[in-house]
Amino acid sequence: NSAAKAPPTPSPLRFSKFFQSNMRILITGGAGFIGSHLVDRLMENEKNEVIVADNYFTGSKDNLKKWIGHPRFELIRHDVTEPLLVEVDQIYHLACPASPIFYKYNPVKTIKTNVIGTLNMLGLAKRVGARILLTSTSEVYGDPLIHPQNESYWGNVNPIGVRSCYDEGKRVAETLMFDYHRQHGIEIRIARIFNTYGPRMNIDDGRVVSNFIAQAIRNEPLTVQAPGTQTRSFCYVSDMVDGLIRLMEGENTGPINIGNPGEFTMIELAENVKELINPEVKIISVENTPDDPRQRKPDITKAKELLGWEPKIKLRDGLPLMEEDFRQRLGVPRKN
Ligand code: NAD
Repeated sequence: NSAAKAPPTPSPLRFSKFFQSNMRILITGGAGFIGSHLVDRLMENEKNEVIVADNYFTGSKDNLKKWIGHPRFELIRHDVTEPLLVEVDQIYHLACPASPIFYKYNPVKTIKTNVIGTLNMLGLAKRVGARILLTSTSEVYGDPLIHPQNESYWGNVNPIGVRSCYDEGKRVAETLMFDYHRQHGIEIRIARIFNTYGPRMNIDDGRVVSNFIAQAIRNEPLTVQAPGTQTRSFCYVSDMVDGLIRLMEGENTGPINIGNPGEFTMIELAENVKELINPEVKIISVENTPDDPRQRKPDITKAKELLGWEPKIKLRDGLPLMEEDFRQRLGVPRKN
């Protein structure tokens, strides 16, 4: 029926003189790794008011400490599996543990976060007339049968594996986004994020870049999962944030891959970390985890064409930018 398809009416409050000039932006998961860098970038614009909603499961107030108390910034302890009502113009919906150690820790909670959390944020977007961006993942492609992956590929995903709470959760989240768009006229944006790295990544979260850097700094062997020839692509976080903002501000719903197509085997990554951070460490081979994809690399043609975006920071330039942050948090100063 036509009533259901009519675009939502934005709240009159936000068109009043007082609110006119400011853009109110909600970031769920804004205390996390990518979210906190997104907050930093959005806060640079004096016209933005930023609200972060986070339950601190994998994120931390520390990541936002420079903004706490700022008049244009608000931090709310909130779990997205519960409804939230705030007057906003844009929602960046990032809340979800991103690394296997954390998303497998309580898989039922992970799927609730993806499904109920996304439903709640879509309900909010509908109610206040906000545009909403979901950070989906390259994991929606599963163990891909085509290489590199473009957005029209439907994926090869195990629905009952230990990673499914995350992969399938994000796939349902994408479905919900499109159903709200088609049924209720909500303005949606979907980013399919590929591996991202940079300062403030959780240490010891099992993600390969943070593992290797922490191991190199602690002078422990770098543990490459067998066979070591599996590949990943790594995008530096400032490039990622730039891509997310362009997607939000642009006219395309997506899904759009955002990642760095530069492909590295795990052995190459370990060798780079060794050379750049600690030439003394050993590289050893360890057993792999089930369902670990063999290859993953984004096809970013769409991001280039539609967003005018491509990553600028090369892996060899980005890795050293993490060292200082990791050394501080690990309490291991550099030897001179
Ligand atoms: P992160 O774990 O550092 O951040 C996630 C944030 O969400 C944390 O602050 C956490 O406390 C919060 N959170 C988790 N569950 C919540 C809940 N139920 N309610 C409220 N807050 C909750 O991870 P990240 O790397 O910053 O990832 C951000 C987003 O990007 C996630 O949606 C993730 O799936 C996606 N993504 C990340 C990568 C990557 O390489 N980092 C790759 C693909 C997709």
